[in-house]
Amino acid sequence: MGWAIALHGGAGDIPLSLPPERRLPREETLRRCLSHGVAALKANRTPLDVVELVVRELENCPYFNAGIGSVLTTNGTVEMEACIMDGNTKKCGAVSGLSTVVNAISLARLVMEKTPHIYLAFDGAESFAKEQGVETRDASHFITPENIERLTQAKAANRVQIDYTQPAPEKPLKESSCDSQIGTVGCVAVDGKGNLAAATSTGGLVNKMVGRIGDTPIIGAGTYANSLCAVSATGKGESIIRATVGRDVAALMEYKGLSLKDAAEYVVEHSPKGTAGLVAVSATGEVAMAFNTTGMFRACAKEDGTSEIGIWRSIENGDV
Ligand code: ASP
Repeated sequence: MGWAIALHGGAGDIPLSLPPERRLPREETLRRCLSHGVAALKANRTPLDVVELVVRELENCPYFNAGIGSVLTTNGTVEMEACIMDGNTKKCGAVSGLSTVVNAISLARLVMEKTPHIYLAFDGAESFAKEQGVETRDASHFITPENIERLTQAKAANRVQIDYTQPAPEKPLKESSCDSQIGTVGCVAVDGKGNLAAATSTGGLVNKMVGRIGDTPIIGAGTYANSLCAVSATGKGESIIRATVGRDVAALMEYKGLSLKDAAEYVVEHSPKGTAGLVAVSATGEVAMAFNTTGMFRACAKEDGTSEIGIWRSIENGDV
């Protein structure tokens, strides 16, 4: 038993050669967000508050694919999406198709708390944001030069790509402009009483069709929590939706009695290679961080004092 928290900044084909100037700011952000989450848990904030505040911070950071870092659709527009879920009550809220909302995760929470519904998208979600008075900016604010460059590269390669996809060898990234190492964000937390929550936020895939919805806001796919565990997934949305990744982790625990770690590894191993990663915590304070991609930006901490910040697989940086 005891509190635990885990967060991710996306899974994918993250090159082992990632230069320090691209790795260090992301590791630093993970470290800062982790310590804010830990401080909030120690201050007895609810897991729902903790996952929302951590994901808000990640959304405000341009190094990850959410909020201000959101990647672009094929039309060069931003369509952000997010989801939050409370384990004990199974209350949840989700949003998609946002182009002006600074913190999509907080709007998802408002959908959960202030409407009779679970999921609002596009114009309806934008109107609800205005009605609730959440912070918005002109849509152009979210269209950054780095993400215009990522879109240009994806179009040149004729690909809809997960943020970490490596460019084709004949079309290397321009060193001076941007890199492909940005990813969806998520956080899961449990308090000392076993209350659980999960939150995930993303700009989706680079060069995605206008109107495309990924796994992130889909309950049971990219985001899920019940009284046993909380899960936030990252990777190729279409694959994660087909595999119902979040719900499968919970179902293996519930129906087969698997530990969190075994359930998480089973689900990730049975997803197509290179498509899935997840962070999860259980009601008893276990943590799992599993991925079948080259890497996953991730961090976790537990009440017993153990913590980890990692990107690739290694003996020192293995799953907790
Ligand atoms: N899962 C996200 C999506 O498909 C992308 C990611 O995790 O980076 O929209």
